[in-house]
Amino acid sequence: MTERMLKFVSLAQAMPDKRPAPQRRTDFDEIYRAFAQEKAAEQASRCSQCGVPFCQIHCPLQNNIPDWLRLAAEGRWEEAYAVSSSTNSMPEICGRICPQDRLCEGNCVIEKGFESVTIGAVEKHITDLAWARGWIKPITPPLERDQSVGIIGAGPAGLACAERLRRKGYQVAIYDRYDRIGGLLIYGIPNFKLEKDVVLRRGQRLIESGVKFHMNVDVGRDITLGALRQRHDAVLIATGTYQARELKAPGVGLGNIVPALPYLIRANRTDLGDKLPATDSSRFNAKDKRVVVIGGGDTAMDCVRTATRQGASSVTCLYRRDRQNMPGSAREVMNAEEEGVVFNWLSAPEAFLGRRVVSAVRASKMRLGPADATGRRSPEPIPDQSHSLEADLVIQALGFEAEDLVSAFDAPDLLTTSWGTVKTSGPSLETSLDGVFAAGDIVRGASLVVWAVRDGQDAAAAIDRYLKDKRTPKPHSADDQSLALETVS
Ligand SMILES: Cc1cc2nc3c(=O)[nH]c(=O)nc-3n(C[C@H](O)[C@H](O)[C@H](O)COP(=O)(O)OP(=O)(O)OC[C@H]3O[C@@H](n4cnc5c(N)ncnc54)[C@H](O)[C@@H]3O)c2cc1C
Repeated sequence: MTERMLKFVSLAQAMPDKRPAPQRRTDFDEIYRAFAQEKAAEQASRCSQCGVPFCQIHCPLQNNIPDWLRLAAEGRWEEAYAVSSSTNSMPEICGRICPQDRLCEGNCVIEKGFESVTIGAVEKHITDLAWARGWIKPITPPLERDQSVGIIGAGPAGLACAERLRRKGYQVAIYDRYDRIGGLLIYGIPNFKLEKDVVLRRGQRLIESGVKFHMNVDVGRDITLGALRQRHDAVLIATGTYQARELKAPGVGLGNIVPALPYLIRANRTDLGDKLPATDSSRFNAKDKRVVVIGGGDTAMDCVRTATRQGASSVTCLYRRDRQNMPGSAREVMNAEEEGVVFNWLSAPEAFLGRRVVSAVRASKMRLGPADATGRRSPEPIPDQSHSLEADLVIQALGFEAEDLVSAFDAPDLLTTSWGTVKTSGPSLETSLDGVFAAGDIVRGASLVVWAVRDGQDAAAAIDRYLKDKRTPKPHSADDQSLALETVS
């Protein structure tokens, strides 16, 4: 084995080729080219197969990374896929968008002076190959069970749960208010990080596996949570977090100051070829505008890079902490800088200037003060140090909070936390309502895809235990007729 592995000593780290920045700026295609097969195997062979695999420990899914790297290095691709997909319902998606620099790759312990194994790129290669070679097939459960589970939300948490439940033979129905399957994977995360076909084929596989999708159904408005509980033997809430945090500063109500998600959704829909109403089209388009994006997370990075692709005349990101303390991935900052984005670190907006629409942002210079209770140093303004930036479009990307589900679902007994997220009883992910579980961002607060997948998979295991205890399926009531909703095929 050592002959094939531990090549980090003689072989340098290499990512798949990145398309040149001037070309990237002109389209929304993914920026990395595919690995050539031998390159992927070569890079996998850099793994040192260490006794305590910190990459695996720091992966929320505890992916068995050393094993699938070794199989890839040996050219045993189908087995590598089998190992990789045994813990992860969507490895090619995590391979593309996980912040590996903070998770597996950030904890790779090949000796100092050598760079980490390119785990994410190899993971993507293995699963893309599995799709291309037809190894990924619809699920055919060993037995069909009568019990059914209703899932609210077709994002990664809902999809991962559906996948696991279907494998066990449960009847699964997913309800989502969007028209496409994928949640933020489709409408939040831009194509240049994650091409939409990659997400849609996952949804299509679930359809072919017998999962019923009821799209354009807003639970709370079109159907009640109570009705879903009557219809199904268990219900999962996987609705994500969509309430945008807003800045409070003079002038924030001026025109052309827009929230990040509607901006990204519109850009994603345009890229998907959807016909959009002309209203607001100029407000949400960065072409020829001086754009200022406020925030330092993944959403802010997606906004700055979308604006460059829309043809903004300049794009500046204002973030109140410094580069080392930003929540977004360092790799994404580097990609944005290559594409021409300017970062104003340690800067926070103080006021928005303009008559009807915004024309400038006044920002104060910040410094990092003492650490707060979480150990993170809090930013504080440096008195009398402000500067102004001209702006025609300002995008606020300050994070998301949970919607008030107690009201939306008219469920006074659904317990929530002081942040509005749904309270669950530890690892069982069961809520305060019997037979109702919750997973993903609606439990954790805005987080990562890999955690949503983990929660979805854990929720499936918990629902399976619950239903095995319960056993008798819910009799289909006459009421079901009134709940009949169109399914997607
Ligand atoms: C712009 C942006 C970029 C991001 N980039 C990354 C990244 O690079 N890497 C990463 O790991 N994470 C990233 N994230 C975070 C990641 O997308 C989320 O953590 C993840 O999608 C959460 O999954 P989820 O299934 O819990 O929720 P979601 O993906 O939000 O899915 C929830 C689904 O529930 C549906 N829904 C909500 N309410 C209702 C209702 N009442 N009735 C019916 N359906 C409903 C929604 O329509 C949606 O389809 C990003 C997030 C954003 C916003």
